[in-house]
Amino acid sequence: MSARILDGTKLANEIRAEVAAETQALKNFGLNPGLAVILVGHNPASEVYVRGKVKASQEVGLYSEQHTPPESSSTEELLALVDSLNRRDEIDGILVQLPLPGHVDSKKILLAVDPAKDVDGFHPMNVGYLSTQRPGLVPCTPAGVMEILRRSNIPISGQEAVVVGRSDIVGKPVAMLLLNQNATVTVCHSKTRDLPGVCRRADILVAAIGRAGMITPDFVKPGATVVDVGINKVTDRGEFDRFFEGNPKRLETFLGKGSTLVGDVHPRVAEVAGAITPVPGGVGPLTIAMLMANTVKAAKMRRESRALQIAD
Ligand code: NAP
Repeated sequence: MSARILDGTKLANEIRAEVAAETQALKNFGLNPGLAVILVGHNPASEVYVRGKVKASQEVGLYSEQHTPPESSSTEELLALVDSLNRRDEIDGILVQLPLPGHVDSKKILLAVDPAKDVDGFHPMNVGYLSTQRPGLVPCTPAGVMEILRRSNIPISGQEAVVVGRSDIVGKPVAMLLLNQNATVTVCHSKTRDLPGVCRRADILVAAIGRAGMITPDFVKPGATVVDVGINKVTDRGEFDRFFEGNPKRLETFLGKGSTLVGDVHPRVAEVAGAITPVPGGVGPLTIAMLMANTVKAAKMRRESRALQIAD
């Protein structure tokens, strides 16, 4: 039996439409949520990501601006830029596109972002809010994973969830979000013993590893929900055949572009899983949609906390 495909593009479009309606409602009250993106230097991949984020902001009606300081910018110069954005009331969200150049102290920059405007949810204050179940800004990709599960009516409470990967930006926050929704969560990493055996316990398996097709059907309990966060580029024909042999549509893309994308989950897992996110078109589109949602959330939360201060 073939798994139900959890269509991330469709869900992301739903979320974007909701964000656009909410943005319009805020505008009717004279508030236009604003996102500032900082892109340092000329990293081609980062430039593509930032273009996508700015375009998406415009499409949902957010105010957005892009700051492109040169590669040679010092930590102090970038701190001054972050500080100026922290102070501007019309800016609700600040996103620092990573990676920053090697000579810049990235941790210092991320720590300088006002937690109330930290739409990436990376600030330790927001990490703390997440782990103590207080309202805050949640990292976009993990929030997207949860939206896929929620909008696809996948039960979470009481389920066994296994997350492979423990990065600060994906694995750990996904695990925390699942735990907060009462899943029994196991987090795996490169030192985990018997990874296939641990993964086979999962009703919900989340792969955030960065290794093409590593999760094969023998890692998956029949009927499980599999969320594939990985994005890996395949350029080698041998590797392509290992993942997509007998898939004429993919072959056409591969031959046309010279590459295709594969997740951390082998495509044959779809023969065992109950539901699965595709790559591309699964978690990826949700990440940008959740950035838009976080910007509106940040705009509302800042106004609410200010209103409470005035009322005090
Ligand atoms: P990362 O920081 O490199 O973390 C990878 C994690 O996988 C680490 O915890 C590592 O374990 C674990 N790991 C590596 N090899 C392993 C193995 N053989 N067995 C078990 N665990 C292993 O990566 P990341 O930033 O979390 O990203 C993960 C993937 O998601 C990448 O493909 C990335 O491109 C993708 N991604 C997608 C989106 C999206 O929008 N869809 C967003 C962000 C990231 P250790 O901690 O022990 O080293």
